[in-house]
Amino acid sequence: MGQWIDGAGIAKEIQEEVRVEVARLKSQGGMPGLAVVLVGDNPASQIYVRNKVRVCESLGMHSEKIAMPSTATTEEILTVVRRLNEREDIHGLLVQLPLPRQVDARAVINAICPEKDVDGIHPANVGHLVAGRAVLKPCTPAGIMEILRRHSIPLRGSRGAVIGRSEIVGKPIALMLMHEDVTVTICHSKTPDLPLVTREADILIVAMGRPAFVDDSFVKQGAVVIDVGTNRVDSRERIQEIFGEDAGRLADFDKKGYTLAGDVHAARVLPKCSFLTPVPGGVGPLTIAMLMANTVKAYSLSRTSIPAAAERQS
Ligand code: NAP
Repeated sequence: MGQWIDGAGIAKEIQEEVRVEVARLKSQGGMPGLAVVLVGDNPASQIYVRNKVRVCESLGMHSEKIAMPSTATTEEILTVVRRLNEREDIHGLLVQLPLPRQVDARAVINAICPEKDVDGIHPANVGHLVAGRAVLKPCTPAGIMEILRRHSIPLRGSRGAVIGRSEIVGKPIALMLMHEDVTVTICHSKTPDLPLVTREADILIVAMGRPAFVDDSFVKQGAVVIDVGTNRVDSRERIQEIFGEDAGRLADFDKKGYTLAGDVHAARVLPKCSFLTPVPGGVGPLTIAMLMANTVKAYSLSRTSIPAAAERQS
């Protein structure tokens, strides 16, 4: 029987480390600052931004939310980003995605100063990631690497599979695993005979956005399975199919009209794997914790002359 991975616990550990580092920087007169730009009134984005600002403040850092109307133009957002790029008290800057349809999201991301890009999505930082020397790495995959590291999962020489090839999860986690000497296969919707491929993997990362899609037939005996999927399931029948008569899930549904399910069918996979991340409480909490860690790194970058957020090559 596999073990659950306590992502929320690991996130707390990282936040504690950030808190200690922030206190040290403050004792030397420093103060890391994070600015979050929120455009429009997408309810999920509002919750994410509120959490980011709240956690940032709770760790003793300066944080600011810049709210813009859903009618904001690309040019108006670029003006705000450029102003934040110039501010010396703001070290980390992120624009909450998705942006409204009329906005050129790529132009906005490209305008963020790479040394302040705490989401790690500016092309300069993506390039550094490919080269294996990024400082500011995308938060969700960086969080997955922390899970693997803090559970002492052996990586070198192992086989990995990633289901999903998004810019924010699939591609960067595949690169990060490769840099740790994992032999990685990236799978997507056109991959033939997916279970045959994923059953080869000692480490299976699932980031596809399909509730409970991955069952035991996808999993090698004893594999480590990381479930990134965060899906709202809003039908009682489907919840019962996935979670059986789990009273907590049904109560969640009765209260909110949905429950959150990962991409992995946990009840079928847990008996076969060695470790599995739950949803919620697995990868999700790590994303915010790594954002906080990135804000402190961005502060440090602002105090050094390392160009474009790249680590010095030894
Ligand atoms: P995305 O951009 O929606 O892309 C999904 C990927 O899964 C695509 O590459 C797609 O293949 C692949 N896919 C979809 N159906 C498939 C199938 N039947 N077989 C094989 N591959 C399939 O993904 P994302 O933004 O990375 O998000 C993935 C999930 O992670 C979502 O549930 C999201 O909510 C969650 N997420 C969680 C966090 C967190 O902090 N916990 C952060 C980010 C995302 P194609 O490329 O061929 O279309």
